[in-house]
Order: sequence, then structure tokens, then C-alpha cells
Amino acid sequence: MLIDTHCHLFYDDLKNDLPGVLDRAHDLGVNRFICVATNMEDAKECLLMGESHENIFASAGVHPHDAKDAPEDFVDQIYDLMTFDSMVAVGEMGLDYFRNISDPEIQKNVFRAQMGIAQSLKKPVIFHNRDADDDVIKILKEFPDVRGVAHCFSSNLETAKAFMELGYFISFSGNLTFKNSHLPEVAKELPLDRILVETDSPYLSPVPHRGKPNEPGRTRFVAEKLAEIHDVPLKVIAEKTTANAMGLFRLPKII
Ligand SMILES: [Zn+2]
Ligand SMILES: [Zn+2]
Repeated sequence: MLIDTHCHLFYDDLKNDLPGVLDRAHDLGVNRFICVATNMEDAKECLLMGESHENIFASAGVHPHDAKDAPEDFVDQIYDLMTFDSMVAVGEMGLDYFRNISDPEIQKNVFRAQMGIAQSLKKPVIFHNRDADDDVIKILKEFPDVRGVAHCFSSNLETAKAFMELGYFISFSGNLTFKNSHLPEVAKELPLDRILVETDSPYLSPVPHRGKPNEPGRTRFVAEKLAEIHDVPLKVIAEKTTANAMGLFRLPKII
């Protein structure tokens, strides 16, 4: 079994065909999903999906792109959402200096506020980092008790090591499979007990579906790539990454 630890199931293409999306995932051995919010509206959609499907879990948070539009009471709203059983993480949060859709100062404030929520609730975080390694590391260090995952990791080995030293997992998505990616070299150096897999659906569809809308079943191709990189059977990658995700997000055991 594989777990897609990061997908955005509230996008129309996925939401409108959810039974089909979940069936196709099941056929590829992907049986659990974390539906990750990017703002307060879609956090409510994640919650509804999480509360109505036993294999879907949810997060609540504000993406750095959405930071500029975060409602004034977003912190209170996240606290309220986190009271539900299917809510397993705060996020996605973080910094994105590649696109800078929100002003960096606003991004940092909104990121810190969410780290504070995670700290007080003792919940893991899902963070997004693009071209912001130094500032992300600085903010993570301000909250030494918080744990979580560097989602869709795209930085270098040094940054991966810094995140791991702070207690974070490293999650790979479809970009691990892209031709000429530097990420296989990074992934090769990381211990399997610190790695998660995800799709970031509907984005970043892995080879052999690159360029098409992504869906959670394709976690399988990311896992297959990791198996190739680490020279182990797919089964080993599935067992390790699933155990990692179950532990980090405290998912219920499958009966
Ligand atoms: Zn992201
Ligand atoms: Zn995402």
C-alpha cells in the first residue's frame, strides 16, 4: 500500500470524478490520501472529503500564494477546523520566492502564525518551499518542537539534511521522475525512514504522464522511481514510506 501524502482533491477534475480517481488509485496500490488545503475555502472542502471517506485525511492551512488573501481570522478558523478527527496536519504553509505572488513579509507572517498553531496543537505541518531555503530553515528553527514534512522537495542535498536534522521528513513528487532532474541524486543520499511520497495532484504529473493533469494513483510512479534509485523492491519503498506517513500524521491503523 502507498499513501499519497499530498493531493488537492478539491480541484474540479478530481472532485467531479472522485470515485473514479480513487478506484484508479486503488488499482495502482495507492489506498490512502491526504487532501491538503491551500486556503480557508478549500480547507472546508478537504474537511468534508475527510469526514466522508475513511481513506481520505485532510489538512487546513494557507499556502504562501494565498497568504495575501488570508482572512483576518484565519488562525481562529484553522483552530476550529483542526478539531475534526480527519484533520491530520496544518498546511500547506511556507514560502515561495520563485513566484512571490504574496509579498515575502506577508508570506513569513502567515507561515509563522501557522507554525504557532501546529506547536500549540502538537500537530505536524506540511510546508512548501520554493527558492526560500534559508528563510524556511530560519522559521522552522523558531519552532523546535514542531515536526512535519518538506512537501514536493526540490532543493539540494544540503537543505534536505538541514530539514532532516530539524526532524522533518522529505517528500518527493512527480518531479523526481523528470528527465535531467537533480532530485534522484538527492534522494539516493537520504535514508528511507525519512522519505514520503506524494503527487501534488493535479500538478506535477510524473513520467510517463508528464504534462497531463495528475491524480493520486500516480504516487506509484514516484515510488517506483525511488525503488530504482535505492535499488530496492517497490515493496520496500511502499512499506517504509507508508510507515513514515502513518507515524508522522498519526493515521489510524488499517483493520
Ligand atoms: Zn506546494
Ligand atoms: Zn500542494
